[in-house]
Amino acid sequence: RNEFLQWIVLAIVMIDFSYIGGYISSLRRNLRTSHSELKKTVENLNISQSELEKSLALIQEIAIHDELTGFYNRRHLMELLENEKNRSLRGNTVFTIAMLDIDHFKKVNDTYGHQAGDEVLRRVSAAIKSTMRNTDFCGRYGGEEFVLVLIQTDLKEALICAERMRANIEQCQLPGIGNGLRITASIGLSQYQMRQEIDTMVARADRALYRGKEGGRNRVEYEA
Ligand code: GH3
Ligand code: MG
Ligand code: MG
Repeated sequence: RNEFLQWIVLAIVMIDFSYIGGYISSLRRNLRTSHSELKKTVENLNISQSELEKSLALIQEIAIHDELTGFYNRRHLMELLENEKNRSLRGNTVFTIAMLDIDHFKKVNDTYGHQAGDEVLRRVSAAIKSTMRNTDFCGRYGGEEFVLVLIQTDLKEALICAERMRANIEQCQLPGIGNGLRITASIGLSQYQMRQEIDTMVARADRALYRGKEGGRNRVEYEA
């Protein structure tokens, strides 16, 4: 009886193996077909290897940047922040983020139109860029919200930098936009605290930013 059972088990195992074997070879066949189809498509496109590589690099660039401002998009910004956190934990270094939000931006759109609003976004981005150091990076976090990452910078240094940025934005000239319109932004800072999650760090900067808004806008605040 035992022997009979062993034969049954062996038969089941053999059937399973042949099924898996068939599945693997069908996967191989599909892969070969896709590969040769892709090759044919590339040949038909008449694209050289280097042109193809250039196009892929361009697609990669588009995928990580925000079109309007040229800054990183939110997804890539968060990836870079995670990297920065890990670097900070390994090397025991500090970094600080500045969350910046344009004041009364809805009013700009409502009064002067969406295109004027877009122009304001470009100008503010240019003002941010002009205050950034080579090692810093910035991402568009939301519509009119930006997160600037100040590498190897503590809160004290970041405050000086953010104040310079705030003053720079205040000086933005906007030809064609009616008299009396002043573009300002509020900024909230938080320095990375060891072993803290990035989401928590961002929430701290956001709270500081909120205090900046509550305190009358066009201000820099921080959460220690
Ligand atoms: P606060 O000072 O409290 O920040 O007020 P606010 O008006 O700036 O804030 P709110 O969040 O109410 O408005 C943000 C506006 O930003 C609303 C939305 O229409 C606009 N916005 C978001 N993305 C874009 C964009 O890409 N282009 C333009 N023109 N406007 C945008
Ligand atoms: Mg906002
Ligand atoms: Mg705003």
